[in-house]
Amino acid sequence: MKRSFDSNLLVSVAGAIAVSVAWAVVGPSLAAGIGLVLALILFANTLAHSNGLERITTALHRVADGDPNASLPLRSRPSTKRLITAAAHLAGALRASRDALTSERLRRRILEEALKEGLVILDAQQHVLVANELAGRMLGLQPEDSRGKLLQQCTRCPELNLLLESAFTTNGRHQADFEPPGSPGLIVEGVVACVADENHCVAGALLLLSDVTAARSLDRMRSDFAANVSHELRTPITNIRGYVETLLQVGLDDPATARKFLDIVHRNASRLGALVEDLLLLSFVESPVSRERIQIAAIPAQRLFDWIKTELGPAAEARGIRLSFCGDPTLCVHANPLLAEQAIGNLVSNAIRYAPDGTLVEFGCTRHGNSVAIAIRDEGPGIPERHVPRLFERFYRVETSRTPELGGTGLGLAIVKHIAMVHGGSIEVQSVVGSGSTFTLRLPVAEQPNAV
Ligand code: ADP
Repeated sequence: MKRSFDSNLLVSVAGAIAVSVAWAVVGPSLAAGIGLVLALILFANTLAHSNGLERITTALHRVADGDPNASLPLRSRPSTKRLITAAAHLAGALRASRDALTSERLRRRILEEALKEGLVILDAQQHVLVANELAGRMLGLQPEDSRGKLLQQCTRCPELNLLLESAFTTNGRHQADFEPPGSPGLIVEGVVACVADENHCVAGALLLLSDVTAARSLDRMRSDFAANVSHELRTPITNIRGYVETLLQVGLDDPATARKFLDIVHRNASRLGALVEDLLLLSFVESPVSRERIQIAAIPAQRLFDWIKTELGPAAEARGIRLSFCGDPTLCVHANPLLAEQAIGNLVSNAIRYAPDGTLVEFGCTRHGNSVAIAIRDEGPGIPERHVPRLFERFYRVETSRTPELGGTGLGLAIVKHIAMVHGGSIEVQSVVGSGSTFTLRLPVAEQPNAV
């Protein structure tokens, strides 16, 4: 190893020799002079040395404070050269680990904040290493407080514990739905993925939590809908098949019976047809593209009432039900004419269907701000309060035993609701059991009629 000699040491040794020689040769006065000069050189040298150290110290402080422009002195005395090399090495290492820490923090922040899922990272013993805010909200724990603790101690959720247990014992990836105890109604899908070490033992795991409440309820609605459709289709099909089979067996010898059976077949076939029509219409108004596709026009209230009289007047008359109109007949709604007629037709035909013979069904139109309230009032049996929240659901019926006999598909009000939504409107009902119901459909008003 190359050694650098300290200049102060050299000056001191040389000085001592020079003073001794001067003392011996020329006496104490010259020796004193030489000693003084050497002391001055020694002092200057020490000053320069300490200045160099001072600059290194300042630079090292700046490096420690994270100053990216901090640099160690390039020119130095041999005595401090090695110190500078070591300090530069240390500063480089410090910068590298600071950079690594910064990018690690950024990675963690991105993972914790940008994820739409709850995130928990666990070690091999299921201690929490990282938990983001969302995971905290879902599991009812404080992310900071939970760090270093067993997850099972931070949240009491038996289904989650089971999920972790099965993933950790098989060292694999498992997923399951669960309902966290502190959040009623919330359904969370948890996915645990374990990571193995070189000995194939669990080194840690990632737990991802997604709120699947809406998706699961949609799944349930879809399967309920499929079950309902199948049920609704099966009834008329069974009837048609049964009566046709009977007719085939007994023959057409008894015309009165044959006619009765054919009537039943016809009624059931019509019911099937109505059901298919309603299903198609519902799927059209439910689809997001229908909003863009439908043509809108200004429709005067009078035109809607005339349509009701033409289409539903005969059915009302047959039961002695009077149809009346109140409101401004020139008031126009901004809607698709066919869909508006369909929605109003469903409401009026319900009013006629469920009201007793000889009663009154009223059709009223009033402007409220930017919308027109179309109210259909009947003097029917009314709807008990408890049914109202579900009334506009597909296939929801108030009286299951009576309604099929009255011939509805159970989709009428769901269609009205979606037609209202397509136009940015709404539907509501007020009802008093024993007195009647008023269904109010709100559609946008047409300010400058280009009436159709
Ligand atoms: P449906 O084809 O069975 O009439 P809807 O969706 O039109 O289906 O109506 C759902 C249920 O709401 C009906 O089965 C009926 O029980 C009830 N309902 C609808 N309108 C009225 C009304 N005007 N008076 C009383 N009950 C009604």
